[in-house]
Parts: sequence; C-alpha cells; structure tokens
Amino acid sequence: MSDVVIIGGGPAGASAAIFTARAGLSTVVVDEGKGITRRAEVNNHLGLPEGISGPELVTRGRQHAEKSGATWVEGAAEAIEGSAGAFTVRLADGRELTAAHVVLATGTSVTLAEAAGVATVPGTEPRIKQIVSVDADGRTSVPGIWAAGTVAGVSVHTIVTAGDGARVAINVISEVRGERHVDHDVLPAAG
Ligand SMILES: Cc1cc2nc3c(=O)[nH]c(=O)nc-3n(C[C@H](O)[C@H](O)[C@H](O)COP(=O)(O)OP(=O)(O)OC[C@H]3O[C@@H](n4cnc5c(N)ncnc54)[C@H](O)[C@@H]3O)c2cc1C
Repeated sequence: MSDVVIIGGGPAGASAAIFTARAGLSTVVVDEGKGITRRAEVNNHLGLPEGISGPELVTRGRQHAEKSGATWVEGAAEAIEGSAGAFTVRLADGRELTAAHVVLATGTSVTLAEAAGVATVPGTEPRIKQIVSVDADGRTSVPGIWAAGTVAGVSVHTIVTAGDGARVAINVISEVRGERHVDHDVLPAAG
C-alpha cells in the first residue's frame, strides 16, 4: 500500500508528487498521457525565460517526480474504491493500486471523480465545464480524496496548476504528519 496515489501526471500531479515523495511518503503517479499541457507552448512560466513546449514541461515533471522518489505508472485509472486509509485504484488494464490517500489531478476530466462518488460543480474558468468541489485545502467531498490543478478549478496556467499541486500536497503531508510541513533546502554557508 502506498501513502499516496496521484492520478494525473500534468503540472499539478507531477508537482504534487515531487512534494509528497520528497517528504518521504510513498508516492505513485498514474497517468494516461493525454493532458491539455501537451498542446501548449509555454512562455509565461517562472524561471523559463526562453519558453518551453508543453510536452517538454510534462516530461521534465515526470523526471523530477521520479528523481524525488515517486513511481510513475502509465495507464488509465477507471475506478476508486474503498475509503480513507484503504483506497483501491483500479486501472483499465486490470492492475490495482492501493493507497491511504488519493489526489485527483486529472486536468479537464471529472469522469473518474464522478465514478468515485466525488461531488462536482460547474467550472468558472474559461472552457472548463465541470470541476471537483474542494474546500480551501483541496479536500473533496470524499474523505481521503483530494484534488488539485485544473480539475480543482484553479486558473488554467502551468505555473498556477503546478503551484496548486504543491499546495495540496503540502496539506496532505501536513495531515499525515500532524504538523505543518515545510520543504526547504538551504545553501551551504559561504566560507
Ligand atoms: C492549446 C493550449 C495552450 C496552452 N498554453 C498555455 C500557456 O501558454 N501558458 C500556460 O501557462 N498555460 C497554457 N495552457 C494551459 C496549461 O496547459 C494548463 O493550465 C495546465 O498545464 C493544466 O495542468 P493540469 O496538471 O491541471 O492538467 P493536465 O496537464 O491536463 O494533466 C492532467 C493529466 O491527467 C491525466 N488523466 C486524466 N484522467 C486520468 C485517468 N483517469 N487516469 C490516468 N490519467 C488521467 C491526463 O492524461 C493528463 O496527463 C494551455 C492549454 C492549452 C490547451
């Protein structure tokens, strides 16, 4: 059983995975590789003044998540069963993953959320029809299932969805640990 299964490997899911894996939570990302970021040419992401293609950003996100310790599974999740602390995520090819927490980072798709009984509401961002209903921390209507990024209703930009994935991951880690989580690396002292 993993601590966290993150469904969706775009900017939101990969960023969430970097944080949960670096915090020592066993983390699995399930991604079917069909997100909207793969159609983007991104020139407004902090730290990338030359711009980056969406596919390259997604690839780098996967590499970063894996380097941080996350396991990346290529495939489509079609069901989430069980309850907080003991979820089973079933993939279309029959594989099953178990986890204490699930983070939905499925971009424009609420299909899996609705199949899992997670409440959705109309989206408010341009061209986003339906989103998962979340509280201020990213919790959905089902205890133990969280949501981040486009599917959680934030502004549809890579810097925002990546930041939202990180933010929700920090809230998951903080709940697991029972104290607010901070992930700061520090430069060695000059000398
Ligand atoms: C044409 C276009 C141009 C854009 N240009 C820019 C730009 O210039 N600058 C900018 O900031 N933003 C741009 N964006 C927006 C940007 O791509 C998004 O805001 C953001 O990257 C979405 O991130 P996300 O992680 O929420 O979703 P996504 O990147 O869509 O990732 C969601 C992932 O979840 C996966 N998934 C969904 N359901 C399942 C499932 N059941 N099982 C497994 N995997 C699943 C998908 O396959 C996908 O890989 C553009 C978008 C488009 C469409």
